[in-house]
Amino acid sequence: MSIKRKVKAVEQLFGHLDKEILAFQTHTRLHCVTGCGKCCTKSDIEASPLEFLPYAFQLFVEGNAELTLEELKGESSPICHIYQPLSLTDTQSGSCGKYQYRGLICRLFGYAAARNKLGQLQLATCKVIKEGQLDNYLKAAKAIEQGLKLPVISNYYSKLAQIDFNMGTRIVPINQALRLALTEVLTYYAYRPFRGGAKRIA
Ligand code: SF4
Repeated sequence: MSIKRKVKAVEQLFGHLDKEILAFQTHTRLHCVTGCGKCCTKSDIEASPLEFLPYAFQLFVEGNAELTLEELKGESSPICHIYQPLSLTDTQSGSCGKYQYRGLICRLFGYAAARNKLGQLQLATCKVIKEGQLDNYLKAAKAIEQGLKLPVISNYYSKLAQIDFNMGTRIVPINQALRLALTEVLTYYAYRPFRGGAKRIA
């Protein structure tokens, strides 16, 4: 499958997920706190290269892929390269610098379920939501027990793997996932002409 088709397939998967999340949010009223960037500052976020393929492809189209790859090679922080803190001293407030191109894990966290040892679905969310929206959180947990539909993390990663098994099942630290996605796009187009879409600048 070509890079463009893989990007399209990942974007379609994200589109489906966004609709499921919206339905869950509407039902439960759970929501991220505006300006909170706490989950993005975790140093142990892991992701697959495939979920960042749309981001890498967009950078390539803009002519920024090589530059970003160099930045990532020199990155010593484990915190996501895309994250934009509100200030250098604040570890809580900030935002995703490329929200439209955030990965699968970024979309799922807070609004999706993981299965516990008994196979039961449990909402995977953060302390900020659990404590700050306790009433709605408890109601959501009860509704999930009673069968409320919500995205299931393992199901979405299975769907991702169906697009490209190697890139979709390789789970690595988030900045490594970004590097691998960029390398994939740059290698693919190293010996192929790039046709269509926006003009490549670099
Ligand atoms: S891609 Fe965006 S949402 Fe995901 S961890 Fe990085 S900054 Fe946060």
